[in-house]
Amino acid sequence: YDYLVKSNLKSTALSRSIRYTLSRARARGGEWDSPMFRLAQQQFLKAAQYMDLDDNIRQRLLFPQRTQVVSFPFFRDDRSQVETVFGYRVQHVLSMGPTKGGIRYHQDVDLGEVAALAMWMTWKCALMKLPFGGAKGGVRVDPTSLSKRELQRLTRRYTAEIIDIIGPDRDIPAPDMGTDEQVMAWLMDTYSQQVGHAVPAVVTGKPVVLGGSLGRKEATGRGLVYLIKASAEHLGLDLSGASAVVQGFGNVGSYTARFLAEAGVKLVGVSDVSTGLFNPAGLSVDALLAYVAEHRVLAGFPDAEAVSNQALLELDCDVLALAALQNQVTVENAGRLQCRLLAEGANGPTMLEADDILFERGIFVLPDILGNAGGVTVSYFEWVQGMQSLTWTLEEINARLQAILLDAFHRTLKRAGDNHIDMRTAALIEGVSRVTEAKLLRGVFP
Ligand code: GLU
Repeated sequence: YDYLVKSNLKSTALSRSIRYTLSRARARGGEWDSPMFRLAQQQFLKAAQYMDLDDNIRQRLLFPQRTQVVSFPFFRDDRSQVETVFGYRVQHVLSMGPTKGGIRYHQDVDLGEVAALAMWMTWKCALMKLPFGGAKGGVRVDPTSLSKRELQRLTRRYTAEIIDIIGPDRDIPAPDMGTDEQVMAWLMDTYSQQVGHAVPAVVTGKPVVLGGSLGRKEATGRGLVYLIKASAEHLGLDLSGASAVVQGFGNVGSYTARFLAEAGVKLVGVSDVSTGLFNPAGLSVDALLAYVAEHRVLAGFPDAEAVSNQALLELDCDVLALAALQNQVTVENAGRLQCRLLAEGANGPTMLEADDILFERGIFVLPDILGNAGGVTVSYFEWVQGMQSLTWTLEEINARLQAILLDAFHRTLKRAGDNHIDMRTAALIEGVSRVTEAKLLRGVFP
């Protein structure tokens, strides 16, 4: 545990009791150890410091309860060679109900990343008061290198490999980076073929015709913008005429940009894997969407100046929305961010030391477990509708989504204000408290 103690925790120096927890824990963290998992553990321990958390609970929550690592053979379309692909499914907390969380396809996915994302799902679900523990899955593969047939084969085999630990009342996957509605449809079909009948509630984020929910596809972006509006109100910032930069133009980024534009916000910067774009006069979201539909990526978009990812993050704007990868706001660039409001649609985009800098600078942060919780919240609605074989209207869904997010937002804001702590730590305390209460009530078996 030296890594947790030694890491540059200046203003969040680990207390003696946490050092004690760490020295007592025997598992050494090795199985899941990675920079991202350390970040998730450190954020949790930072929150635990303010909570006077029961030491045994702290140890229980520091590691995932269940981990499945698989390797399986995979044929590319030409079928001349077989390659071995690695896949993961991590269930962090099994005490709250079934576990819930997306599946990520990316060439850099590893066990530690999936474990960190699973832990964040636990806090996110608890913060939203959803009856789920956290889970996450991943396959280490570049999905952009796969044909549609390859993607289907890979998805079906990965599903078969994790089939024993998923299910509508066990663990319910959903989309994440690199996966979409189609992938969820194949997952549902593979599972359903095995049990012999259609099981729509085994997965969320599936196409509406297969039992998907209205509003799920846009839910993360929509939720983030509901929260940006609430934050702007809190900060006294008038959104009509405000400016925004959105990092990432996938599902989350593109819907965030669209809903911000609808709120009268001027989009001055946007990016994807191919490039960053800047135009102080404002970018048209419709034109960007049309360009991407034709060219697949933003590179070459005519009405803007190309900028690097780093420069994009440091653009002058009111709202900076992060909707790409982890590890974006670091101790290096946190001092140079120019936004008033940092809205996290991505998971884990801000490093621990950067949080302290943002807090000192008075930049208001909508932390990931709150900011991007719209996705899993409408996933919960989808699961509820699936289990009961009924459907809600889009109006009902959006109203319920807004109510749940705003409730969590105001609880977090109050806790942050009362305790003079940053929004991330406040949100984590909300989530961790709920899980702790449940764990203590359930007790220890046997
Ligand atoms: N992958 C999304 C997240 O990180 C959604 C998970 C879900 O809907 O279960 O929150």
